[in-house]
Amino acid sequence: DPSKEKYHPIDDATWKQNEKVPYMALACTLTAIEGVSARLKMISILANYFRSVIVLSPEDLLPSVYMCLNQLGPAYAGIELGVAESYLMKAIAQCTGRSVPQIKSDAEKFGDLGIVAEQSRSNQRMMFQPAPLTVRGVFEKRKDIALMTGHATMTKKIDKIQSMFVACRHTEARFLIRSFAGKLRIGLAEQSVLQALASACTNTPPNQEYPPEKISVAQKISPEAFKELVEEEAQVLKTTYCECPNYDMIIPVILKHGIKALPEHCKLTPGIPLKPMLAQPTKGASEVLTRFEGLKFTCEYKYDGERAQIHLQEDGKISIYSRNQENNTSKYPDIISRLKAALGPEVKSCVLDTESVAWDRENKKIMPFQVLSTRKKKDANEADIKVQVCVFMFDLLYLNGKPLIREPFIERRRLLRENFKEVEEQFLFAKSLDTNVLEEMQEFLEESVKGNCEGLMVKTLEEEATYEIAKRSRNWLKLKKDYLDGCGDTLDVVVIGGYLGRGKRTGVYGGFLLACYDADNEEYQSICKIGTGFSDEMLVQHSEFLKNHKIHEPKSYYRYDSSLEPDHWFDAVQVWEIKCADLSLSPIHRAAIGIVDPEKGISLRFPRFLRIRDDKSAEDATNAQQVADLYKNQDQIKNQEGQSKKVS
Ligand code: ATP
Repeated sequence: DPSKEKYHPIDDATWKQNEKVPYMALACTLTAIEGVSARLKMISILANYFRSVIVLSPEDLLPSVYMCLNQLGPAYAGIELGVAESYLMKAIAQCTGRSVPQIKSDAEKFGDLGIVAEQSRSNQRMMFQPAPLTVRGVFEKRKDIALMTGHATMTKKIDKIQSMFVACRHTEARFLIRSFAGKLRIGLAEQSVLQALASACTNTPPNQEYPPEKISVAQKISPEAFKELVEEEAQVLKTTYCECPNYDMIIPVILKHGIKALPEHCKLTPGIPLKPMLAQPTKGASEVLTRFEGLKFTCEYKYDGERAQIHLQEDGKISIYSRNQENNTSKYPDIISRLKAALGPEVKSCVLDTESVAWDRENKKIMPFQVLSTRKKKDANEADIKVQVCVFMFDLLYLNGKPLIREPFIERRRLLRENFKEVEEQFLFAKSLDTNVLEEMQEFLEESVKGNCEGLMVKTLEEEATYEIAKRSRNWLKLKKDYLDGCGDTLDVVVIGGYLGRGKRTGVYGGFLLACYDADNEEYQSICKIGTGFSDEMLVQHSEFLKNHKIHEPKSYYRYDSSLEPDHWFDAVQVWEIKCADLSLSPIHRAAIGIVDPEKGISLRFPRFLRIRDDKSAEDATNAQQVADLYKNQDQIKNQEGQSKKVS
């Protein structure tokens, strides 16, 4: 029972030292996590499980971590294992003697094929009980299945799934089938897994003899001291994971040397993509000046294209990653073949942070983002490329064996300009102006907008100017062109529901329910309904896409008011960029509930669809804290607060 308050990693584990971890132990852990909603409780349940694995079967820690995240390898490697539900239904039917229509109708009723699989399994009698599944065994088989390619392999894949399915006991079937369907559906975010891992490793350090009475560090020191220790190690682990997001490299180091040794062993490495540094929104040049008072900073054009992190390894291999660490290398053969021309003679390896922007060769100017989005997404052939791009280089994170992220921007920029060359219409440095004069900033902003840019990025140069991986840092401020008529920034929100259209919109969805993501509670909170900003074609496109992501009941981690119940619920898979007139407190929407007001959420007024954000995953959507910040940053709210302060 991994949810026990005083868990003992040996006594409470259901397996013995050096045995492979039974899949049942993981399934029980996931079941316990599914049964609670508090994040801290989830973390402690998972930490208990990890502790047993560390003490009894350390080799299974890596597959355990991957299985909790439903991944088969580093996220950026993109090894995916989604098996269509129809195939899974067939597999379940064949193994249980039930019919596919029965399974299908149950799946519609429960909205979860995992539960249907589990219930179908328990009705089934076996002549011989197959050997119990192990975590490692399931992980390896899942990997084998993912690596089989081509349609002809589908039968083989189904056979393998069936062979595991017949061996399932209790809730194992639920998680096995969910893992093949693509989501474990327990609301466990990666940050929680990292926190649990840190807690487990701190409590149960590596390479120790484990007489049961001395089993945990927590028993030897005060609760406060233990909490502090866990936080320290969690920080190290999370930072390392940002720089080197690869458990294949991290877990062996933790097991051998402990978390504190990570920075020495797992460093930023060309070839491994980093989560990018992000900016905070502002509403005008004067706000920038206030926030950066006393600091040296620079303004750069904010190009409206796609982030491209360009990695050059010592052996000459070049990779390009998106904002979301997706491998875009095969999308950009043109950038790859031209990069050489932009490298100075000394450059052997590097990581460049850039924006790739659609480029009009005839008129020698930047084209809007929409043009870039028509480019082929994968396996592009250089000769067939119609939309040309120009790469705007704005940062240098690694050069010739040395990570630069802890250097101030002024130094990184110097190295960038010194070691790289501009190549006309192909590789240019982001246009910049080092000024702190309001009028000059405003002029530069207008100029950037005329040049088809989104506005400015304003960045600290010397103090507080390191590169903060994966952070929405206050050292980078964005100043968008439409700050005057909106709330300072657009929002990126997740589509979670659809309302069937009427009249002209019959047959497609006419409106949608949108949500922001609350990372602390790992839930999607409704923020507004939207029906504006769509052309008829777009509505057809959205409906086609979302039809395939319909779920039969809302996820347990969707928060909304029942008055908003859509006709169809969707899995949280697509992010939309939305513009709105302003943000207001709402009795029915749940965005940022508890942050600004204990009972009310925040909603967007007059939302308008701008575009799909393919480069963001649902968890990268605007989060609850950002929504609250945008709300509070509105002039009328600031004025109100100012007044009430004066009164009090
Ligand atoms: P979010 O909306 O979550 O903040 P985003 O991806 O929408 O993120 P913004 O924060 O609006 O992006 O702006 C940051 C993005 O702007 C970067 O991810 C990058 O793609 C782009 N960009 C364009 N020019 C620059 C520049 N000079 N410096 C940094 N980023 C730039």
